Amino acid sequence: GRYRQIYRLSTPLHSEVSRLRFTLTTVKLGNFQDRHAAAETCDTVRAFTGYLTLFDASCTVLMWLLLLQGKSVSLTNFFRIARNTMIMCFNKEPGAAEVEQEYWRIVEQRHCHVAVHYGKVDTNTHGSGFPVGKSEPFSKHGWNLTVLPNNSGSILRHLGAVPGVTIPWLNIGMVFSTSCWSRDQNRLPYIDYLHTGADCIWYSIPAEEKVKLDKVVHTLLQANGTPGLEMLEKNIMISPEVLCREGIKVHRTVQQSGQFVVCFPGTFVSKVCCGYSVSETVHFATPQWMNLGYEAAKDLKCRHIAKPFSMEKLLYQIATAESKRENGHILTTISALLKDLRNIEMRQRQELYEAGLLSSARYGTHDNSLLPGDGRKKPRKWLALESSERRCQTCQHLCYLSMVVQENENVVFCLECALRYVENHKSCRGLKMMYRYDEEQINSLVKQVCGKALGKTTEKWNGASPIKPPPKRGPRKRETVEVSLSRLSSSHLSPAAVT
Ligand SMILES: [Zn+2]
Repeated sequence: GRYRQIYRLSTPLHSEVSRLRFTLTTVKLGNFQDRHAAAETCDTVRAFTGYLTLFDASCTVLMWLLLLQGKSVSLTNFFRIARNTMIMCFNKEPGAAEVEQEYWRIVEQRHCHVAVHYGKVDTNTHGSGFPVGKSEPFSKHGWNLTVLPNNSGSILRHLGAVPGVTIPWLNIGMVFSTSCWSRDQNRLPYIDYLHTGADCIWYSIPAEEKVKLDKVVHTLLQANGTPGLEMLEKNIMISPEVLCREGIKVHRTVQQSGQFVVCFPGTFVSKVCCGYSVSETVHFATPQWMNLGYEAAKDLKCRHIAKPFSMEKLLYQIATAESKRENGHILTTISALLKDLRNIEMRQRQELYEAGLLSSARYGTHDNSLLPGDGRKKPRKWLALESSERRCQTCQHLCYLSMVVQENENVVFCLECALRYVENHKSCRGLKMMYRYDEEQINSLVKQVCGKALGKTTEKWNGASPIKPPPKRGPRKRETVEVSLSRLSSSHLSPAAVT
């Protein structure tokens, strides 16, 4: 309360960011009877980005909303468009309930056709709505969303700055602007602050309803085998009334200017704006999220969906930082995940070795204090390759611990996809294993984390076969190929240290 009052008096957001420009996304809401009719109306729009599907309350008629990637506008112009749209739709400034009623009336009766816009702006390039100057009041306040992800209770502080995750983004909306049903792909919780403007209506479905929701959506959308929850990843809006009738728990809340909304891990959320508004959103995570996030990352990898950050990197950075701090609670939470990751990694390295991939090289940072045990060794010439930037070309996985590169092409595989590639091609020709940490280092970190975890979970190896270390100056030396560094990165790199 007090924060809100003082903050809003001291920061006239609109004037601060009124010079910003952003790209519009347009939602066409109205009388399209099918996907093809809808598509025809936007033949001339080249930047057509996808469909937004809307179902009316009786579930008999499908409504397609169009998402159009539009031109760039200034916030001032957007404000003008928003005001005109409002005047067109309402005689006087409507309340949230009135907007909500009209929204679903347009959808269900299909007598009129409205196009509305919204924008999403990365605050890294355009600036946050929160005070950030050192001398400004509240620039270090815990509820300032540029500060919150680095709160000591948020494990995402180990991730560093990632746009759309730990760097907040602005959501700029107008009356009827819609965020369709969605949950964060990493199941991360997030917090949204409505800086200024009209109310926002939030509908939410708790994470524990997911099995029921999956079935209901699958039936409603006649998904023919596609899981209902996967359908929900495709910009789909279903009336909360329909979902309620099908027995799904749907909650509704109205967010007013100056209020925060917190979305819990795995929650399904949709949102309708009641007028011109600017809000800001950012992710955070408590240690309890780790298990959920780890499973979500595995699922995304299986489905070949690109993730915004590497779960392996996050785990390793938490493990390294928190074991120095002897933070027993967090170490307990991550020890099982770290072991699982180690077991998978070592098994895949072993399988690749047995399949004939003998050529390997190490890469990573020059920070020898990163992992325990490094201090005792002579410093190595590590290949300064930031692997977290490298994606597997097959499954889009962000490779952190290791990857397999192909010498002739600028091609990167994760170990799992490399195994499949080797099986299909019956050859390891031109392939090279690149790894950040050797087996000893990986085991050493697992041991350290398990040793400091509460209750000291015993560290034991679950693998079926003993693991050979990566080959040291492989027996078939001719196959140890120097990777052309220019193919891996355009930045200056030191020569690869082949072990
Ligand atoms: Zn892959």
